[in-house]
Order: sequence, then structure tokens, then C-alpha cells
Amino acid sequence: MHNIAIDGPAGAGKSTIAKIAAKKLGFIYVDTGAMYRAMALYFIRNGISGSDEAAVSAACPGIDISIEYQGGEQVVLLNNENVNAFIRTEEVSMMTSDISKYAAVRSKLLDIQRSLARTKDVIMDGRDIGTCVLPDARTKIYLTASTSERAKRRHKEQTERGISCDIGQIERDIAARDEQDMNREIAPLRQAEDAVLLDSSSLSIDEAVDAVINIYKKGAMAVNERS
Ligand code: C5P
Repeated sequence: MHNIAIDGPAGAGKSTIAKIAAKKLGFIYVDTGAMYRAMALYFIRNGISGSDEAAVSAACPGIDISIEYQGGEQVVLLNNENVNAFIRTEEVSMMTSDISKYAAVRSKLLDIQRSLARTKDVIMDGRDIGTCVLPDARTKIYLTASTSERAKRRHKEQTERGISCDIGQIERDIAARDEQDMNREIAPLRQAEDAVLLDSSSLSIDEAVDAVINIYKKGAMAVNERS
């Protein structure tokens, strides 16, 4: 399979860019953050604290996460309910970062993510795709942008969704989430040794998409030359 792994910090534009690149390349787009978010939503709804690892782990076997595609959009199903509309709030973002450090949560989603990539060409985005989920991915990209640029983009996105928010608070939340994601013990966010670093701070969406496709094509060319 020709898999593309895209990792990077919160708000770097991974999902926007990966979604368009997937369409152009005819790949399936897999947003792994959405799967972690759906699990976080379950814990919030059931009053389970994100700091209670024992309770989170005990609940994991009763949670079913799957994804399907409706009109080309990835839909996350939490125990068969489409939860796409509920997983993008700041409350869910922070809870997701809290519970994604636990082994029980990660191992559950790892199996689902790997099996998706086994049978299809995927562009998968997340935090540990190049380092853990798909270490043999043909193309690995670490997509980042400055913290202020990422906060600006997240603010615009939330405002467009009709959610009022404070840009300073968003910047603080993003920084806190990155700090937690980079410093956890299991599968921390980091650039894989063989990943290409792409800084999107001064790139438009189209330019970043083109950069991703070029990195993929160059990699594919190198593989063809070797074989
Ligand atoms: O990408 P997104 O912002 O939706 O991810 C939400 C959270 O899910 C991240 O802050 C991170 O804690 C967690 N995550 C993860 N591993 C992934 C994808 C997301 O730990 N592969």
C-alpha cells in the first residue's frame, strides 16, 4: 500500500491539507484525532474523569469506535452514533489530550488504524503515525506552523462554526495540548527520523497541499528508481 503519514502539533492544518491531498491523489483520508476525540466524548458523557486512568481503562472495552465515509467525509461512530458534530469543542480537545496518554486508549485505536492502512492507500494524520502506527509508510511528513499562526487559524475556524472564542485562550490551550502530547510516555508527538519537515506558517492551503503531493511524488520516484 502507498501510505502517507502526516504528524504535527495542534492546528497546523493537517486535516484540511490531508483531506484535499487525499482527494487529489485518490487516497482515503483517515483523521485519527477524531477517533481519540470520540473516546474523550464518551468519558465526558459518562462522567469519567480524564485523570482517572483506572476508570478510563476499565471503560475502554465497552466503547466501540469505527469510521465510515458519507459523501466523501469521514464520519466517526461512537457505539454506532455519528458524533462528528460533538467532537470539535475545546472541552473535548483538552479531554482528548488527557486520555490519549493512556495505554488502554492507544492500543484500542492502534489496531483499528493499522487495519485501515493495510487494505487501502491512506493519508493518515495524527501525532504518532510516522513513529508508531505506520512506521513503514512510504511518505512521512511532519507538518507544523508557528504557535501564533496555528491559534489564528483555529480561531477563524471556530468563529466560522459560530463558536465565539478568545484567541489568547486558544493559543494557551494549543500550547498546553502540545506540551502534554510531546511529553507523554507512550507514543509522544515527535518528528520521525525519516519524515520531511514542512512548515506551513507562510503557505496558503493550496501551496501546502502541493508541497505534500510533491513530497509524496519525489518519494515514489525514489522508490521506483531503486526497484
Ligand atoms: O488532531 P486533533 O487535534 O484532532 O487531535 C486531538 C488530540 O488527540 C491530540 O491533542 C492528541 O492528544 C490526540 N491524538 C493522539 N494521537 C493521534 C491523534 C490524536 O494522541 N494519532
